[in-house]
Amino acid sequence: MNQQTSGGLSVRRVSKSFRLGSTTVEVLKSASLELADGEAVAIVGPSGSGKSTLLHLIGTLDRPDSGTIEIDGRQPLSLPEAELARFRNRTIGFVFQDHHLLPQYSVMENVLLPALAFRGDRRQRAAAGQRAEELLEAVMLAHRRQHRPAELSGGERQRVAVARALVNRPSLLLCDEPTGSLDGDTAKAVSDLLIELHGRDRTKMIVVTHSTELAARFARRYRLTDGRCVAA
Ligand code: ADP
Ligand code: MG
Repeated sequence: MNQQTSGGLSVRRVSKSFRLGSTTVEVLKSASLELADGEAVAIVGPSGSGKSTLLHLIGTLDRPDSGTIEIDGRQPLSLPEAELARFRNRTIGFVFQDHHLLPQYSVMENVLLPALAFRGDRRQRAAAGQRAEELLEAVMLAHRRQHRPAELSGGERQRVAVARALVNRPSLLLCDEPTGSLDGDTAKAVSDLLIELHGRDRTKMIVVTHSTELAARFARRYRLTDGRCVAA
């Protein structure tokens, strides 16, 4: 199962501690996980076990104290800061528990935001616009493209956040409790959407979830326990 592919994700013996005053909280202790290209896994574990910390490290938003993270054959954390930001923007999509949409922008503008960082030529902008249209169709919100987030339901906002995360065609989609703020039916719709989009694009995907129902839909699961990832 641990086969290496150049398009995979490899987290090896990653440790991370936080200092809180005079005490040190050891959150990750030599955590490792592997994800082959095109694969999706769920990560489960109790609150406070370090799931978000691990996703932040994989998403290159924070640095481990030790260990390595390889994405698509590269070690992004060894890149200079500006290149790291570009790598993150192109390679990684994020969906958080809360949608983090910008209230002053329309649905379409929110989806396009990650693509703006490229400041590409007219052709690239047109391609991004088309991709955003396709994604809004896929999340069944094309008819809401001009609406503001405040005019949408919680589930609809999270579907916009999913579309936004995918607009740059990332090779890795990281979802941190994506259904954690949603009620049963709405959570099911967002779960269905993530599973369907993964089936369509085969983007590598990690979904942290408390929902045993959602976790059960993945071929492979990890449990974060005592600072390590174990197959669940
Ligand atoms: P989970 O997502 O599994 O609920 P987290 O990764 O958010 O867990 O947190 C794991 C532990 O690390 C918790 O005890 C939390 O308080 C601590 N922690 C997380 N981030 C920080 C931080 N920036 N500073 C100090 N402690 C932190
Ligand atoms: Mg968390």
